[in-house]
Amino acid sequence: MIRRLMIANRGEIAVRIIRTCKEMGIETVAVYSTADKDALHVKMADVAVCIGPPKSTQSYLSVGALITTAVRTGCEAVHPGVGFLSENSNFAREVIKAGLIWIGPDPNVIDSLGDKVVARETALRYGLPVTPGSPGPITKKEEAVAIAKKCGYPIIIKAASGGGGKGMRIVWKDEDLEENLSIASNEALANFSDARVYIEKYMLNPRHVELQVIADGKGGVAILGERDCSVQRNHQKLIEESPSPGVTPEMREAMSSGAKNLFSSLKYCGAGTIEFLVIEDEFYFMEVNARIQVEHPVSEFVTGVDLIREQILVCCGQPMTINPDSVQLSGWSIEARINALSPGTVLRLDVPGGPGVRFDTFLYTGAIVSPYYDSMVGKIIVHDIDRNRALARLLRAMDELVIEGVPVNTETQKKILSSAIFRSGKFGTGIYTQLEATL
Ligand code: ADP
Repeated sequence: MIRRLMIANRGEIAVRIIRTCKEMGIETVAVYSTADKDALHVKMADVAVCIGPPKSTQSYLSVGALITTAVRTGCEAVHPGVGFLSENSNFAREVIKAGLIWIGPDPNVIDSLGDKVVARETALRYGLPVTPGSPGPITKKEEAVAIAKKCGYPIIIKAASGGGGKGMRIVWKDEDLEENLSIASNEALANFSDARVYIEKYMLNPRHVELQVIADGKGGVAILGERDCSVQRNHQKLIEESPSPGVTPEMREAMSSGAKNLFSSLKYCGAGTIEFLVIEDEFYFMEVNARIQVEHPVSEFVTGVDLIREQILVCCGQPMTINPDSVQLSGWSIEARINALSPGTVLRLDVPGGPGVRFDTFLYTGAIVSPYYDSMVGKIIVHDIDRNRALARLLRAMDELVIEGVPVNTETQKKILSSAIFRSGKFGTGIYTQLEATL
């Protein structure tokens, strides 16, 4: 096994990775910007190196500084976490070129999945249905009109290299198509240095369902159940659960078998997520995220698997400890993301606890929530025998959380969780809009 690993990230995910590394006997090297000099991941790691000023482009996204740090501190592997460079094949290639292990799939696999147009073609090849839409990137208005006519409005224009909910435009009629095509394309160019966009039919109020995958790079693929991430605001996830209240055993089986074929044939290595949109008993492939995800703990709770450990093991050439043929799913898990509403310093922190409660955060009394990074400061995850019990447990845990000094979104989250529609389990991605007036 490797002795030392660098985490090219910050915040709660860096803390999460350090915890597993400690249990595995792997030393950790944290990197930080000057804004994060007193951050929790810096305190918890065995070694911490400042890599630049607060702006991510000059620190957490600085490939040169990251590679130099990993090499100089004697690391053998790099874990990219989530966001930042976690799906950047160029960074993965540089890591490998420097003689280090990349905790993620092969850079060529990242490329083939990171391009949404190519990923759709790949999915189709493995028998997974995709949303109706354009077979490739769209350049001309005439092409777009023809596709929109075929799919029927509304349609969604998406960036081929898109991610994080950016670069998407919903269009309801022909007259708005041309303008939105150029806006989307410009946005795509600005955000992803790739102007290519394509069209999908925009589904009304679908569920967002995704499967957690761990694959060993040799064709072995374990599916660790699904997550429902339909509670979103502006395409950003707020609440996730496993299993999904809208997935039947038959649908789970059909999704899983397609996903297994796809990941196996790609010789995928590491943790990955395959996302679908679900309408009643139909499902459509959306994309693959070639990394660990923020909402991974709900899958950890229902399977009892440490996903970070499995990810490190397989990427270091070790066998996974999961038997892909006997993954057991037990009980119900729900996660609520805690987002800061403005930056600040934590003056007091009371953390939730008790049975079946997990609180992943980088906060402590005195911690600084800086304006430079993602607003998510933590997540509360609970587990219990069924959905009603898990929901009661989550609301109880949310009541225990006290954060003074930094305003957070707990009141809104509690209102969503307590709403009749959430409780019923019968909702889609439109749930936030449906509830907005009451939040
Ligand atoms: P990103 O990679 O930027 O996260 P995704 O392709 O995963 O973008 O889509 C994010 C969210 O946008 C989905 O969870 C869903 O709510 C919505 N969405 C994307 N495509 C469609 C579609 N064709 N129809 C309806 N909603 C969609």
